[in-house]
Amino acid sequence: MKELLPSAQADARIQDVRAILQESLLEREAVNVLNEIAQRLLSSTRTELLAHALRRIFDVVAAAQRVTVVAWPPHPQDGFRPLLPEDVLRREGIPESPVSTSMARHAVDSRQALYFVGQSEEHVALRHAPSVLANRIHSAVYVPLMGGADEVLALLCVDTPQPSEPILPNDFPFIRAVGALLSAALGAERIREEAHLRQMEAREQEVRRDALANCMRIASHDLKNPLVVIQLASQMMAKNDDRGRRDGFLQQVRQAVKRSTRLIDTYLEAAEALTGRTLKAHRSEVDPKALIDDEIAFLQMAHEGVIIENRVGCRHVHADVEKLRQIFANLLSNACKYSPADRAVTVGSSESDDGVTFTVRDQGVGISTEDQARLFGAFQRVGDTRATEGTGLGLWITQALVNAHGGRIWVESVPQQGSTFAFFLPRG
Ligand code: ADP
Repeated sequence: MKELLPSAQADARIQDVRAILQESLLEREAVNVLNEIAQRLLSSTRTELLAHALRRIFDVVAAAQRVTVVAWPPHPQDGFRPLLPEDVLRREGIPESPVSTSMARHAVDSRQALYFVGQSEEHVALRHAPSVLANRIHSAVYVPLMGGADEVLALLCVDTPQPSEPILPNDFPFIRAVGALLSAALGAERIREEAHLRQMEAREQEVRRDALANCMRIASHDLKNPLVVIQLASQMMAKNDDRGRRDGFLQQVRQAVKRSTRLIDTYLEAAEALTGRTLKAHRSEVDPKALIDDEIAFLQMAHEGVIIENRVGCRHVHADVEKLRQIFANLLSNACKYSPADRAVTVGSSESDDGVTFTVRDQGVGISTEDQARLFGAFQRVGDTRATEGTGLGLWITQALVNAHGGRIWVESVPQQGSTFAFFLPRG
């Protein structure tokens, strides 16, 4: 039996069975049944093993009329829940069995199997317990099924309401031994579940770590744009004597510095979102048309030749200005990135009583219907992205920023014709 079981905890249960076999003289059939159950410990599913064990208890213990295994502790509303599903019990012809709360408590509190016979003086208090009387339990064996040294996972309950044919003293060690084997199986299952849970947690940690590392990568990549502007503008300043032009370059440097700070904030927020926290919008009155003009001027500084038309009519929106700026920055830079420079990108808006919908339309490579479905997930890059730099985080962050406003974002696209990214911001 020993080599069939994987853990020290299960080994201890097998020792229990050995001790029982040594101290009691079990019938040959009972020993055979224990061997049979032991053989099935690793090869059967939990349901198969339990069903088999319960059926065999009926075969060996002549007096047994009701047999069940219930989960411990009982459910606060439903009470004792059998570990075997109803349809299996029906199929196997195992009758529904009542469980006495008092006997269950007795067995669980002592962490010992309970052998109860109605007439004996040993358990007088139990004899009068309401749950024993109500269920007409005349004799019974209750075995706590242990997950570890002290943890009770379930209870094996065998009883009969017949005073004339009680469960016999010699049935007790057999039922205890079956209980020890079932404990080994449930305990091993618990260990496997815990190991699986730990594995899942480790995997989740790994994904978050990767995500954060990627976030750092994308942040440093995006920070290059303003740095290029700072470098170019300062070179121009050094070369230029004209006061007016120098002021213009200085203005560009200041804007680029501001933008870098904003980017850092955004990626810090993205890092927050990656740890599962939701972003918050700090709203104020914003003029989206002016904000988009700013963005366009900036993009044109960094990417020469791009054509972006600002057809936004909306002049007031109640939004988080930095988040809104980042939403447009991401959508506009994608539109430029995934379409030829000479095809115009158009930004538009339409207002309703409920809120405003903004659109960013390009005439670029487009996205297949299939890919559109996964575009907003983290690290999703679709189509042929070999020629463009990116990490697949931009739209995911954009969606988080739109969600922070209680809005939503979607895409309509035809491959080779272009894409329209739209987002709706509710009023208020
Ligand atoms: P990234 O651009 O860094 O790869 P995004 O999250 O911004 O990440 O975009 C995810 C993917 O969606 C991109 O890799 C690209 O395949 C596709 N995509 C985004 N915007 C467009 C667009 N305007 N036209 C075509 N494809 C797009």
